[in-house]
Amino acid sequence: MPGPVKTEAIVLRSLRYGEADRILHLYTPHRGRVSAIAKGVRKARSRFGGRLEPFFRVDALLHEGRSDLLTVTGVETLAGHPRLRERAASLDVAARCCDAVGRLFATDDPHPGVYALLANELALLEADPAHATTANAVAFRLKLLLAAGFAPQLAACAACGEREHLSGFSGAAGGVVCPSCEAGSFRLDEPAHTFLVEALGRPLAQTPVAEASALVQADRAVRETAEHHAGVRLPDLRFVT
Ligand SMILES: [Zn+2]
Repeated sequence: MPGPVKTEAIVLRSLRYGEADRILHLYTPHRGRVSAIAKGVRKARSRFGGRLEPFFRVDALLHEGRSDLLTVTGVETLAGHPRLRERAASLDVAARCCDAVGRLFATDDPHPGVYALLANELALLEADPAHATTANAVAFRLKLLLAAGFAPQLAACAACGEREHLSGFSGAAGGVVCPSCEAGSFRLDEPAHTFLVEALGRPLAQTPVAEASALVQADRAVRETAEHHAGVRLPDLRFVT
């Protein structure tokens, strides 16, 4: 329906376009991911100035015309996250979280819970540099899988229901697997299994700590689940500090 649209939004990406414009990928609570053009925003005297950079949470006024590309007509900052931007590790985790939301929730389907999760993650990264960890980034993506309806099965073998000796993970089966069902799985050791269970059960602010080796396995479990069940390839997290 053409007309004005008022919505909260988080800027996922901001791409240069033409002489002075930007194309924005915005994540919104009730319209999912939308693309919008901000005209003249790269001019020195733009009204919107620096308010449309990635990781800004804003109140946006958009105009919806006939195309999928909306036009930004007004913007108020709700949270600019200035301290997050000053720290390389926080920026890196924030970028990966926004990237994962853009990939896993690329349509206009509304997922207000995903919007709230991303807003919370950016607020945590702003508040305390200690949250900028690989464990936090893995936990965030795991919670995105849960929101998408693809949380991995962690309590019993995803193929046969066996509850003991769960030593592998299979993206195709959708969770942990026992030795009888391990075809196509990779090894998931106890610390990685425990991390996944605890990270799913706790708020992001209380993400459990784990050794790097456990996080590599947990990250692989998240990526293989996203690939098999959502058809989305997420980049490897191993290079996060
Ligand atoms: Zn089994």
